[in-house]
Amino acid sequence: SDKNKLSLTSRIVIGMVAGIILGMALRYFAGDSAWVDSYLTNGLFNIVGQIFITSLKMLVVPLVFISLVVGTCSLSDPSKLGRLGGKAVGMYLITTAIAISIAIFSAVLVQPGSGVERSSDATFEPSEAPSLSQVIIDLFPDNPINAMAEGNMLQIIVFALLFGIAMALVGKPGERLKGFFDDLNEVIMKLVVILMNLAPYGVFALMAKLFTETGLGMIGSLAKYFFLVLIVLIIHGFIVHPFLLSTLARVKPGIFLRKMRDAQLFGFSTASSNATMPITLETVTKRLGVSNSVGSFTVPLGATINMDGTSIMQGIATVFIAQVYGLDLSIADYLMVILTATLASVGTAGVPGVGLIMLAMVLQQVGLPVEGIGLIIGVDRLLDMTRTAVNVTGDAMVSCVVAKSEGDFDTEKYYDREAGKKLE
Ligand code: ASP
Repeated sequence: SDKNKLSLTSRIVIGMVAGIILGMALRYFAGDSAWVDSYLTNGLFNIVGQIFITSLKMLVVPLVFISLVVGTCSLSDPSKLGRLGGKAVGMYLITTAIAISIAIFSAVLVQPGSGVERSSDATFEPSEAPSLSQVIIDLFPDNPINAMAEGNMLQIIVFALLFGIAMALVGKPGERLKGFFDDLNEVIMKLVVILMNLAPYGVFALMAKLFTETGLGMIGSLAKYFFLVLIVLIIHGFIVHPFLLSTLARVKPGIFLRKMRDAQLFGFSTASSNATMPITLETVTKRLGVSNSVGSFTVPLGATINMDGTSIMQGIATVFIAQVYGLDLSIADYLMVILTATLASVGTAGVPGVGLIMLAMVLQQVGLPVEGIGLIIGVDRLLDMTRTAVNVTGDAMVSCVVAKSEGDFDTEKYYDREAGKKLE
C-alpha cells in the first residue's frame, strides 16, 4: 500500500505536525470547551499518549538487563570492560562540560536576563542533592529485583555487568544461558520495533495534548532566554556533536544525523532519554554499526549520566537568574557551575523535567536564589523536549566514538543507507 512507502521518520513527523496543528486549533477555537477538555485533552489524547510512553518505559528495564548480559558475556576479553567504562564515562563527562561551557559563554554574551522583571509569584521547592560518595555507594544494588522494580538504571547496569562476567567465566553453564539470553534479546528487540511502528499515533496524541493545553504566549518576556537555549541546543546537536564524531571516529557526520532522526523525534516527543533508550539502542547497534557489546553498555549508561542538552539549559538559566536578581558571578562561580552541573548529571536519571532539579543543586552551590527557577518553569516543557533530543544525540555520538576506538564499529553498516531501515 501507499502508506508503507513512507519511512517511519516521515510518519512520525506527520503525526507530530498533525498533533501540533490540531492542538493549536483546538486551543484557539475551543479553548474553553469542557467537552474538548474532558474527552480529548484529558480523554483520548491523554490515554493514547500515556500508553505510548508507558509501553516504551515498560521495555527499558528488561532491555537494559538482557542486552547488557548478552553484550558482557560475549566480550572476547572481559578486562576490556574497565577501559570501555573509563572511556565512556570520561567522554560523557567531558562532552557535558563542553556543552555547559558553550552555554555559559553564550549567555554572558547575549545577556538574556536584562530587562526581565522579577515576578513575585515565582515559587520552586528544591530537593536535597545527594552527596558524591552516596552516588558511588548507590551504584551497587543490595537487591537486584528491587533495583529493577524501581528502574534504577545504574544499579541494573552494575548487576548485569557482574552477571555477564560470571557467565563468561563459568564455562558450559554460561554458554547454555547465553543461548537463552540471545533469544530473549531478539524477542525484546522485536517488541521495540513493533512499538516504533506505533509511534506516529503516540506522538500525535502527545503533541495534540500539549498544544491544546499550552500556548506559545507564555514565552513573552522570556523570549531571549527561550530562544538562546533553543539556538545553543540546536548548534550543539547539529554542529558540535557531528564535529566531535567526525574528528574522533573519522566518519562522515551527515549519515549520523540522518540515521539519528527517529531517536531524536522520540526524545523530543517523550522528553525522556530513558523512555527513548530502546530506540537509541536500536539505532546505535542496528543502523550506526556499534557492536552490541559496546552499545548495550554505553547507551543505558549515557541515558542516565550524559545530559549535554540539560547542561546547556542549566548554564544559560544560571546566568539568566543571576542577571534577573542583579547578582554577579565570578569566574570561580562559573567553574563551580560547570563542575556541579556535570556531576549532578551523573546522579539523576533522564526523565522529564529532571533538569530543573539539577538546576536547583547548581543554584544552591553558587548561592543563587533557588526560587529563580520559578521564572523559567513556564517555558521549560518545550526546552525539555528539545534538550532531550540533544541528550540522546550525545549518547549515540559517544557510543560510536567509543566503539570505533575499541575496534567494535562496523563502518560498512554505518555507511549503508539501508541498514536497519526496514525495521525487522
Ligand atoms: N528530560 C531530560 C532527559 O530525559 C532531562 C531533563 O533535562 O530534564 O534527558
